[in-house]
Amino acid sequence: MKIMANRMDRGFFRYQKEFEEKALEVLRSGWYVLGNEVNCFEKEFAAYTGSEDCVGLASGLDALWIAFRVLGIGPGDEVLVPGNTYIASVMGITMNGAVPVFVEPDEYFNIDTSKMEEKITERTKAILVVHLYGQACKMDTVTELAGKYGLKLVEDCAQSHGARWQGQMTGTFGDVGCFSFYPSKNIGAFGDGGAVVVKDKKLAEDFRIFRNYGSEKRYYNKIAGANSRLDEMQAGLLRVRLRHVAECEEERCQIAERYLKEIENPRLTLPGVREGATAVWHQFVIRTAEREELISYLNEREIGTIIHYPIPPHLSEAYQYLGYKKGTFPITEQYADEVLSLPMYNGMTEEEQTFVIEALNRF
Ligand SMILES: *Cc1c(COP(=O)(O)O)cnc(C)c1O
Repeated sequence: MKIMANRMDRGFFRYQKEFEEKALEVLRSGWYVLGNEVNCFEKEFAAYTGSEDCVGLASGLDALWIAFRVLGIGPGDEVLVPGNTYIASVMGITMNGAVPVFVEPDEYFNIDTSKMEEKITERTKAILVVHLYGQACKMDTVTELAGKYGLKLVEDCAQSHGARWQGQMTGTFGDVGCFSFYPSKNIGAFGDGGAVVVKDKKLAEDFRIFRNYGSEKRYYNKIAGANSRLDEMQAGLLRVRLRHVAECEEERCQIAERYLKEIENPRLTLPGVREGATAVWHQFVIRTAEREELISYLNEREIGTIIHYPIPPHLSEAYQYLGYKKGTFPITEQYADEVLSLPMYNGMTEEEQTFVIEALNRF
């Protein structure tokens, strides 16, 4: 049995008829950018997250960099960010000329909230948390720190659609919640897409103006903005995804539950979920000191895996100019050397799950 790390086709075929009907509806409508589908999606996604408003954008990275831009974070400003994240989180900061200040992760792969306060200086202007792999960060401490020091709070929810901290949806704790709808995300488009959710209607307006060349009224440009619009096709298809979001989330949780219960191998460390947090299992990430052996063992059995992520941002070539050396963030670096994401996708059969579990238990 060949099992890939991800199977996006399964998520399509399950709702094929609905997706195809919606695609035809958009094609035949004669209206392709900023129309009814985007308006409806924004309302539905705001309701889903429990936010006041939502603004559709072209990608998750755009959501991040435009968030810092409209919040007024710029050159010289420092932003606390987890060292253990996908590099796009960091790019959202540096695209504005701001400076990422890395914080080591906790045992749940998320920002270690006990190590944040020591990094705050008079130049610190914002915090960016990332709910990595779909598990909510410890948000009570984060919101307390943001309040105490008057910092803007942005959440990178690219992997955490639907995850909660103490019952509250990720993306709604701070000023802006940034989402990606890249096809492999838990709510995935059929191309690129993103959105922000906000409480403040005025801030939502700033995003709406910025995404459309800084224009409020046609051909009257208030600011030098960008072209970062979620298109009608993606918005329409995302509305179909939203109809089924509860069952898809439940399915991922069931797969994770089986993995947690049935994988038993002292050479592997399984992920945990912090009390008060929920995980939507964007990835199921294990750790092992014998990763190379494990990958080739699984490859021989035609089981695919992915490393999220092999090079932490501070050691990436793109950020050499920040001057970090190997050893600066030992926990982040250890995770980069040890993490491995197991196959996890909607439509994964029980037989496939069993095959993965049995292979891991025999490793
Ligand atoms: C996917 C991802 C992004 C970027 O989203 P895109 O839509 O691909 O631009 C940002 N942060 C995290 C944590 C992600 O996983």
